[in-house]
Amino acid sequence: MNRLQELIEILSDKEVQARTSSARINQKCKICGNLADTFHTPLAKVEYHLSIICEDCQNYYYRYEN
Ligand SMILES: [Zn+2]
Repeated sequence: MNRLQELIEILSDKEVQARTSSARINQKCKICGNLADTFHTPLAKVEYHLSIICEDCQNYYYRYEN
């Protein structure tokens, strides 16, 4: 299974969906649960606000090819 398929499975997970709101409020990542308050690029920050996925997870799941 490639990482994009892995991500799709994670995003389809009811538990992940259920913790999205609290992750957003607490500035945490909805996937790994880590604090997501520092970003190395403005794009990563924007992406976090859209997806509630931290920069590390973004890099792992969909920026790995760059
Ligand atoms: Zn994460």
